[in-house]
Amino acid sequence: MAFKERVFSGVQPTGNLHLGNYLGAIVKFVALQETYDCIYCVVDMHAITVWQDPAELKRSIREVTAAFIACGIDPKKHIVFNQSQVAEHAELAWIFNCVARLGWLNRMTQFKEKTGKDRENASVGLYAYPNLMAADILVYLATHVPVGEDQKQHVELARDIAQKFNNDFAPSIASLGLGAAFFPQPEPLIQGPATRVMSLRDGTKKMSKSDPSDYSRINLTDDADAIAQKVRKAKTDPNPLPPDETGLETRPEADNLVGIFAALASRTKADVLGEFGGAQFSNFKSALVDLSVDKLGPIGGEMKRLVQDPAYIDSVLADGSARAQAIAAETMRYVKDIVGFVRR
Ligand code: ATP
Ligand code: MG
Repeated sequence: MAFKERVFSGVQPTGNLHLGNYLGAIVKFVALQETYDCIYCVVDMHAITVWQDPAELKRSIREVTAAFIACGIDPKKHIVFNQSQVAEHAELAWIFNCVARLGWLNRMTQFKEKTGKDRENASVGLYAYPNLMAADILVYLATHVPVGEDQKQHVELARDIAQKFNNDFAPSIASLGLGAAFFPQPEPLIQGPATRVMSLRDGTKKMSKSDPSDYSRINLTDDADAIAQKVRKAKTDPNPLPPDETGLETRPEADNLVGIFAALASRTKADVLGEFGGAQFSNFKSALVDLSVDKLGPIGGEMKRLVQDPAYIDSVLADGSARAQAIAAETMRYVKDIVGFVRR
């Protein structure tokens, strides 16, 4: 069966949005609007898998929404909403809790990384997070999921869940006249020079909202001075930039900064090295500061303007939620029939 093409992705309202979220995800969200119907979600239910202060969570939901709009997502042509306003996500997630296997979830590296040695103390929600993410995607029968490299494993799990559901319920799906498969196999879209932006302090660690050091990341709301300071302080090695990409292989910090430059300038790493190969980091960093301020400055300004008007933001989320729910509710009616629930 051919599925209608549809894009879904989400961003957690936790802490500060950073350059990794922007280059790895939001820039792609913006570009995909040209060719697909897109649904972009502020995944507040994922956020509470770790403790969130309630007032801060509200502020953060509105800030991520503002970031989506400031970066160029059109909430009228596409759908922008927050997850908790569409209860069908949680409903489908429960069914997927009963489809996914413990062994599958035990392999998820994000859970291991986020809990470390304190696993016994992690919330059950953090463990089941990938099942909710599968529900987020599949409740819209989405076919394409733009994400950073770190989320690849979770999208693959969503594919496994879709497949197992389709197999387990194949006779029921067929008897309802729904063909050979009910859920599509969602495809992760992970492309370009900045699919995994690394910490500015440590080229082997992902840039993350949850890193305690603010110098590890560039936030979308950082002003020009903060951006300049962070880029100048970014860890590097003492050698000049190499002339080509093979020279980046054993130099994670250099690779990261060149990747960031390339992504911000919509160029390839090879092209950037063609210009800066042989240059000292001080020169390259000056150019990177100018480029970053040029690209991020207007976004940060627009975000600050938008969050001044929470009533507008909330109206965008309410409208988006209603439109998302219309799609999700239809999926759930089918899912209930397939599973064998009695419904009104
Ligand atoms: P947390 O550390 O709380 O998980 P996060 O920075 O990973 O926060 P998420 O909301 O989990 O942010 O992710 C939103 C999107 O940004 C996802 O598509 C994710 O893959 C992408 N992303 C996150 N960090 C990076 C990064 N360093 N490089 C590229 N993409 C990233
Ligand atoms: Mg994350």
